[in-house]
Amino acid sequence: MAQMIVGGKAREAGSRARTEIRNPANGEVVDTVPRGDAPDADAAVEAAAAAFPAWARTAPHQRAALLQKGAALIGAHAAELATLLTREQGKPLRESSLEISRFSDILRYYAGLADKLRGEQVPLAERGKFGLVVRQPIGVCAAIVPWNYPVHLMGSKIAPALIAGNTVVVKPASTTPLTAIRCVELLNEAGLPPGVLNVVTGPGGTVGEALLTHPLVRKIAFTGETATGRHVMAVAAHEIKRVTLELGGSDAMIVCDDADLDAAAAATVINRFWNAGQTCIATKRLFVFDAVADEFLAKLVGRVERLKVGDGLAKDTRMGPLHTARQRDEVEAMVADAVARGAQVLTGGARPDDPACAQGHFYLPTVLERVDPQSRIAREECFGPALPVFRVADLDEAIARANDSPYGLGSSVWTADLARAQEAAARLEAGYTWVNAVQIDYDELPFGGYKQSGYGKERGTEALDYYTESKSIVMAT
Ligand code: NAD
Repeated sequence: MAQMIVGGKAREAGSRARTEIRNPANGEVVDTVPRGDAPDADAAVEAAAAAFPAWARTAPHQRAALLQKGAALIGAHAAELATLLTREQGKPLRESSLEISRFSDILRYYAGLADKLRGEQVPLAERGKFGLVVRQPIGVCAAIVPWNYPVHLMGSKIAPALIAGNTVVVKPASTTPLTAIRCVELLNEAGLPPGVLNVVTGPGGTVGEALLTHPLVRKIAFTGETATGRHVMAVAAHEIKRVTLELGGSDAMIVCDDADLDAAAAATVINRFWNAGQTCIATKRLFVFDAVADEFLAKLVGRVERLKVGDGLAKDTRMGPLHTARQRDEVEAMVADAVARGAQVLTGGARPDDPACAQGHFYLPTVLERVDPQSRIAREECFGPALPVFRVADLDEAIARANDSPYGLGSSVWTADLARAQEAAARLEAGYTWVNAVQIDYDELPFGGYKQSGYGKERGTEALDYYTESKSIVMAT
């Protein structure tokens, strides 16, 4: 039975209550986890605060060596972790394997930066004095993680936090705590001192809220819905806690009339249907030039219809179930709303009739045309496998419609014309623009949304700015 990890030790919830974690593909109980409460979160914060002074003083190369050792242990357990991730989250095994290897990669990436975190010596006008700027860790960081990438998004928080000398309390999403707990166990086994990395489980409204309000938590790294992020920011404001917020998105993809349509169609399948569409940087609105729309849609629909839907543990599965029944019902409602407003279903638009899918939260990969721009699927974030396609006259119209959204996470453009690509990259209001490339994020590049898609950056060297305070020191000689 999975346990919380506080101060290096397994911990049951104070109330002894436990929550069942179910497999989205068939409803079976995978395991149970403690249903923690505010006192459990408080205990984890206190353990992290107690561990902070010694960890902050630990030499950077020693911190790096521990993360490297942890990455190697994760690698050695990759098959076990990937299977557990598929069973609790639903994604196909090959996606889970990739997520586990990306978790090791991000630990290694920040381990490599440990001894490169530099300050500055600054000349001052006054004689006999000189200035220094040094980087210091912030203190206890809370890492609040969603269910769509429970391991990689934990990694993008804990790796820069730990390497900069902070200690961390992780709060996984209520429905995906198991692989995260196992990863934290392995990192502790690699030698992290007790209390440096803790994990507490339980509902966001109690355990999460306790982390937001605890005075010893100095920084909150949150990934989740924009509505929750707004609340996190408001609560954090009370004690001016540092925050990074990675929130919702409604990424636009633009396919111009000079694009390689086969490559664009192949990319669209990954962009929209990877992780059953439950990716923050999924393509959620597609704008295609009128002149090539019919040809592009025929290629796209052909590819979408070849996606094998099923249990993520089956070798030939390319798209698993949605993570919860609520997610599936939400996508279904958005498609129904679009259809009621005149949208045409080019493929999908229903649950699969395969009896093997009857016990899971499955929905067919769906492409919609002639979608009313006022439909919910066009205005809100659709976190599932349904893609609305809009025909546009030219690049100006595509960019204007792409930007007509409260979100600004990612975007992509497909064209053979570099000038057009540059123009789109400059004008699209989003933290990432891919040109003729699949929407895959890189640990080496800063990641974070414009507008209501977030605040601050994760990944890249930039993330370290969000896990350190810069301190000015004046020395009189
Ligand atoms: P969510 O906001 O429901 O939950 C995210 C986390 O916050 C969970 O761990 C949850 O338990 C916790 N939480 C909930 N209420 C809380 C509270 N009051 N105080 C503290 N913590 C609380 O989001 P979700 O449904 O798990 O994730 C899907 C959303 O995440 C989508 O909108 C998606 O676009 C977004 N997302 C964004 C990124 C990004 O990098 N921008 C990446 C992945 C997912």
